[in-house]
Amino acid sequence: MALPLVTVVVGSETSGQNITIVTTTQDADEPLRVDFSLSSDGSLSPGSPSWANYVKGVIHHYRAPPVPGFRAVIASSVPLGGGLSSSASLEVAFYTFLQQIKPDDGDKVSKAVACQQAEHSHAGVPCGIMDQFVSVLGRERHALLIDCRSLEATPVPLADSGLVILITNSNVKHSLASSEYSVRRRQCEEAAYILGKASLRDATMKDLEAVKDKLDDVTYRRAHHVIEEINRTVQAAEALKRGAYKEFGKLMVESHNSLRDMYEVSCRELDELVSIAMEVEGVFGSRMTGGGFGGCTVTLLLAHAVDRIIFRIKERYSGTPTFYVTTPSQGARVLSL
Ligand code: ADP
Repeated sequence: MALPLVTVVVGSETSGQNITIVTTTQDADEPLRVDFSLSSDGSLSPGSPSWANYVKGVIHHYRAPPVPGFRAVIASSVPLGGGLSSSASLEVAFYTFLQQIKPDDGDKVSKAVACQQAEHSHAGVPCGIMDQFVSVLGRERHALLIDCRSLEATPVPLADSGLVILITNSNVKHSLASSEYSVRRRQCEEAAYILGKASLRDATMKDLEAVKDKLDDVTYRRAHHVIEEINRTVQAAEALKRGAYKEFGKLMVESHNSLRDMYEVSCRELDELVSIAMEVEGVFGSRMTGGGFGGCTVTLLLAHAVDRIIFRIKERYSGTPTFYVTTPSQGARVLSL
């Protein structure tokens, strides 16, 4: 689901080929202002500061080139590097800005894919499509079931006024966060290769058990997590449609436990936040979100339990948490001034 946190881009077209971009986010690397010129073929290479690479990538992959010169300012309420997709939100906000000064065909799926390509080629992060998809297609009062292969997105109602989703930032980020994602991808690709499948999407637990002795323990556990997580996601969407929040919450916790034990991308702080949350009455489920090794947890609970859980986490969590009380919100949109 899209969160009610936002990245806003304000700007206007200028004459010529010059581009000036300022970010008001103090956590980005210096300088917070960049000036550059567009080359005649519209291509742009990554460089320094690193935050500007997300924007350069979006310009590079923009689907209606050439982009004219412009000046723009970025402001964001999304915490940077906290697993809440500040990078996707920056890419999608910037793409939306470019659509205002040089319209493309408006296709939303292609927009999300272009933003993902920007992150691959210019930020050097081989990310999946989920973050950009949700930033583009997120719908108020709905969760989004995403098929990452067919690129289909199905909105699933999550609009019960008695519920909230609490995001808790652990405010820790372990150094493994940036390197382990590509290690996990490699391990999954290896498992799929040994299974003789194009993707783990095509494998069942039965297939996996049949080749267990050909896989080392770590590769087996990575594939185990992915195959079960795909099934859990489908079950979770079904549960949500029926309003079966207890069942949905149980799947959230199973997902967390598998991310912790089988995929090994959790950490002590995230585990602590999940287990404290699960002790509070009115909580249905809780799990880590994002790339892991720090960042945030997401917890589904009854709205009237929110003060209680925040109090309990503040009291018991060994770090300093930050909270966002949210409901599913709309994805990127144009704001008129
Ligand atoms: P996440 O996307 O989970 O927040 P990432 O590490 O993938 O974490 O992306 C964070 C990076 O995205 C930041 O370090 C910064 O380079 C860039 N970024 C995100 N939002 C902004 C912003 N508002 N201004 C400048 N850079 C930003």
